Amino acid sequence: MKKTVFVIGASGGIGDAVCREFAKENYNIVATYFNNELNNLESYCKEFTTLTKFKLDVCDMQNIKSVFEKVFKDNLYIESVINCTGISLPEKLLIDETNENIDKIIDINLKGAIYLSREAMKYLSKQKHGSIINISSIYGKYGGSCEAVYSATKGAINALTKSLAQECASFNVRVNAVAPGYIATNMTKRYSENEKKDIIAATPLNRLGQPDDVAKVIKFLASESASFITGEVIQVSGGADKY
Ligand code: NAP
Repeated sequence: MKKTVFVIGASGGIGDAVCREFAKENYNIVATYFNNELNNLESYCKEFTTLTKFKLDVCDMQNIKSVFEKVFKDNLYIESVINCTGISLPEKLLIDETNENIDKIIDINLKGAIYLSREAMKYLSKQKHGSIINISSIYGKYGGSCEAVYSATKGAINALTKSLAQECASFNVRVNAVAPGYIATNMTKRYSENEKKDIIAATPLNRLGQPDDVAKVIKFLASESASFITGEVIQVSGGADKY
């Protein structure tokens, strides 16, 4: 049977690369976007496979429920549910941060991931196979000055991943995360050239990360080669622990 992956946040830099990586391997792709359309992903995927798209807001539980219902009704078998959504806001000391921004980051990065995981578990537990993959960050382990709330959500993603790995193991579903360092996407566009030089200097592998660096690890985690891996947070940062 042809395998399908469900990529949430496919309109983002990492989500887009994840879809392309799986499309090349002939997986069917189910992809979601929110404010921005998919970036010529549909024409790219046509060459290899099918792509079905949905608009989805991770803060809207009803929206999540109805999209999951449609996706799992139309696809007999989902190999992996991959959450590539997330936001970061311009760096600020926590003391200067607004309630509105704090809530926004927590709602999208953490509550969104919890809602998506709960919905994924409902369906994957019936399949008795598959995996959930989250995106954390090096900040989830090491913390990041002026990104305290973002870092807190990513630390919580690590704990969520490890907890759900234990809950899901009995129905043969694996739960893992990747923790990127700097990756060149819309999220990191705000860094200046000088800041990028500093990031490279702080990266032992001496270069900036690209979305497909992360996508390749996600593809591995979703594959049979990772069938004995669950509860792991794999760092994809060129050895860097800050940026
Ligand atoms: P990005 O290009 O800005 O993409 C973010 C994605 O999140 C987009 O698809 C966006 O959808 C989606 N999104 C935002 N709010 C949403 C909502 N309320 N409901 C549904 N989707 C929503 O960022 P990225 O770099 O690919 O980031 C992907 C993940 O990697 C995030 O979790 C991020 O924290 C993590 N990460 C990134 C880096 C990095 O350096 N880039 C480093 C560490 C971790 P629309 O665009 O359609 O609105």
